[in-house]
Amino acid sequence: MAKSLKLVLLGPPGSGKSTVAEQISKKYSLQDVYMGQILRDEIKKDTIVGKEIAKYLNKGELVPGNFVSDLIYLIVHKKTKFMLDGFPRTVQQAEYIQDMKININCVLMLEVPESEVIKRLSLRRVCPNCRTQYHLKFFAPKNKNICDKCKTKIIRRNDDNPKIIKERFRVYHQKTAPLIKHYSDQNILYTVDASKNPKEVIKEVIKKLNKISKGKNQSKSKR
Ligand code: ADP
Ligand code: ZN
Repeated sequence: MAKSLKLVLLGPPGSGKSTVAEQISKKYSLQDVYMGQILRDEIKKDTIVGKEIAKYLNKGELVPGNFVSDLIYLIVHKKTKFMLDGFPRTVQQAEYIQDMKININCVLMLEVPESEVIKRLSLRRVCPNCRTQYHLKFFAPKNKNICDKCKTKIIRRNDDNPKIIKERFRVYHQKTAPLIKHYSDQNILYTVDASKNPKEVIKEVIKKLNKISKGKNQSKSKR
């Protein structure tokens, strides 16, 4: 794998970004930067900033201003191997880190039909302690509502209810989807079919990443 891998994961809510991020960052020794979780951790601390952030997350809106971009800068500047999950979420955020000389060199777009991700999100549950994700129908814990790994009671994220899910999609289409063109214009966008089960998706991502690292400077074909 290339020495410098500055990866961004794109995709609608529920497309499986964090599952991919977890597995891929381990395999390629990339720092996994999960913006949504960083924000939820801040909320948990109950600081003034956390209280402010919560207002937006609970409504399904993006946290406004430079707060998240500044955070990303602090976390990854000077690093050569990382994977961003949930950042950038607007063209403005992408331009901000570009201006800061953080040069993303690979963007993976996870493609899933909206009907499928809505099914995933409404029955998604997470362990608040170890962050393992479950799906009540397809990947339920062995004991009802108890995390297999750490035995904590699993919960539904505040923003995983139908009304807020709808709003997150609206925000995604309006603000985040323009990034597809933004990165495709830079010739660094690679698409992955993320409608299959997680194992298959990971397999395809690995195949694609291996191809990308081999084909660097050779081919501009993305599929
Ligand atoms: P999902 O991708 O499934 O919607 P995340 O955990 O990635 O879930 O994000 C949850 C929420 O965190 C978003 O709906 C938004 O409110 C906030 N958030 C995450 N990343 C950003 C970002 N880059 N800029 C602004 N807000 C963000
Ligand atoms: Zn757990």
